[in-house]
Amino acid sequence: MSKERGLLIVLSGPSGVGKGTVRKELFSQPNTNYEYSISATTRLPREGEEDGVDYFFKTREAFEALIEEGGLLEHAEFVGNYYGTPLAYVNETLDAGRDVFLEIEVQGAAQIRKKAPDALFIFLAPPSITALQDRLEGRGTEPADVIARRVAKAKEEVEMMSLYDYVVENDEVHNACDRINAIIKAEHCRRERVEKRYIAMLKGE
Ligand code: 5GP
Repeated sequence: MSKERGLLIVLSGPSGVGKGTVRKELFSQPNTNYEYSISATTRLPREGEEDGVDYFFKTREAFEALIEEGGLLEHAEFVGNYYGTPLAYVNETLDAGRDVFLEIEVQGAAQIRKKAPDALFIFLAPPSITALQDRLEGRGTEPADVIARRVAKAKEEVEMMSLYDYVVENDEVHNACDRINAIIKAEHCRRERVEKRYIAMLKGE
């Protein structure tokens, strides 16, 4: 029977909504069976971040060279820095029949929606904009002007919810993770995804 291609899972939503926390929690669970795609960025590493673990940290020149050579599935400029998804890793992993998980901002998700409409798009929503601002301030990793820009961006981003298949409210990290895992499981059973395999089976392929 022909091998099914993996599922491309896109988790997106406003900055500060807790995408990173939810993603880390999902990947700390022992039964996680999807692969995390590490992004490239021109942002400087934060305290404790490691190259090749949290991001591939690049200079602007190196990042622009990657864009030029078509090495990115998507990329976006977010609050003064580039972020992008390396293409080769995504393709190789999906071809091997493994699911790939991306945690990206909304402009990048919109690009993938056009290129890979059969990907699964999950929007992580904040309980409220105030909660979002509190979380960014509480994190204490950005100065006030950057927080203000991120909150303004978040308002625009919430308006982009209509691009997504599912909306998960991040009220509690463990609830959000449970919902995301349930969505991924259900998506694997979606008739459009499964029927190709059965048609091939009936043809004896
Ligand atoms: P941070 O600087 O807080 O790590 O990330 C800023 C924003 O960039 C977050 O919303 C994060 O999800 C997003 N991001 C991280 N990697 C990528 C990527 O490869 N592509 C895009 N478009 N956004 C990304």
